[in-house]
Amino acid sequence: MTSPAPLVDIGANLTHESFAKDVDAVLGRAHAAQVATLILTGTDMAHSEQAAALAHRHDGLYATAGLHPHMASHWDATLESAMRALHTDAKVVAVGECGLDFNRNFSTPAEQERALEAQLGLAVESGLPLFLHERDAGPRMREILRHWRDDIGDAVIHCFTADRETLHGYLDLDVHIGLTGWLCDERRGHHLREIVGDIPAERLMVETDCPYLLPRNLPAKLKGRRHEPALLPWIVREIAHWRGESEATLAAATTATARRFFQLDEEQ
Ligand SMILES: [Zn+2]
Repeated sequence: MTSPAPLVDIGANLTHESFAKDVDAVLGRAHAAQVATLILTGTDMAHSEQAAALAHRHDGLYATAGLHPHMASHWDATLESAMRALHTDAKVVAVGECGLDFNRNFSTPAEQERALEAQLGLAVESGLPLFLHERDAGPRMREILRHWRDDIGDAVIHCFTADRETLHGYLDLDVHIGLTGWLCDERRGHHLREIVGDIPAERLMVETDCPYLLPRNLPAKLKGRRHEPALLPWIVREIAHWRGESEATLAAATTATARRFFQLDEEQ
């Protein structure tokens, strides 16, 4: 399916091993679907460097650079200075993916908070926006962001899946919201369908989070495959439906928001 208007996929994990063999074909299909602008997610030093390198090889590709909360126990002074250097790369447009994940606690909450606070500091230094991950840690994330709010610039909670109270807590802090295909899942995305209309258009962006989270509203012939940026229009269709607006309107609004948020060049 081709989007009626150009889209920006703000969360594509194209350095994931499942894309190692055919990334050019993946980008070709994304172009054909009007998803020509991608923000590649960096989740640790190696993947952030790979994402930036891939972005340098293709127009329309950009990268984030940060340490995912699952890996927060690895944060140290060496990593911090390497990240600081990478944040000066012209293709790196956000600090992250960083944040809190109290769902699995692969790193301890204390380690996660330490790595997050350090990366909030790097965002202040670099002036870059923040690409944040939060799972089952809404109250603590809001406390931390409230503390930093006057110093950091823009921030997005990517793959938002929480409840209405958490959503409004973030919106009150002037935080942006990234939506994935989570709400295409009738088993667990039901609550999201009722609250997506609460998000102002200028605070909303869309993402695949591929290869994770294959949307469940795909037609039979597309089911069971790897998720990729070319499938973003299916997610936009579902979000537009539950917001009661057209796909074209939602596409144009989220793209304008993403271009402003990540300060992307106009010509791409
Ligand atoms: Zn995430």
